[in-house]
Amino acid sequence: MLRLLSQLIEQALAYWGLIALLFAAVGWLTGDVGYGAIAGFSGLALLWLLLWAPNPCGAATRVGKSCRNNARGILRGCHLQQHKWQRMRTFFVRPRLKNCVRQLFATPVTGLASLVGIATLVSTLTSTILSALPNK
Ligand SMILES: [Zn+2]
Repeated sequence: MLRLLSQLIEQALAYWGLIALLFAAVGWLTGDVGYGAIAGFSGLALLWLLLWAPNPCGAATRVGKSCRNNARGILRGCHLQQHKWQRMRTFFVRPRLKNCVRQLFATPVTGLASLVGIATLVSTLTSTILSALPNK
């Protein structure tokens, strides 16, 4: 029973970024919180998506398909060390648009995570700029 409870808590904690994403979305929709708070929640959600969000690995395999192992974050690969480096290299060392798009949208789940990641990046940048502007 205790083990089941700890597994449930562990699985719920894997999705903490969705709460930050929800707060950021509610902040944009209602306008009740300041741009600084929206930037904070968007930034947390972006970090979660890049480093912790559960999704398929998506790294290109030797047979030309994408890896379907479970991974954490868009930037991190699965348990295979080569896939971890491959994901980082794709985005930071000689990034090519075709390779980036292929790995970001390898599966529908990875594509959804990538789209939300792009939206949170735009939200973070926009709210940071708006919070830095002087008030009227
Ligand atoms: Zn992999």
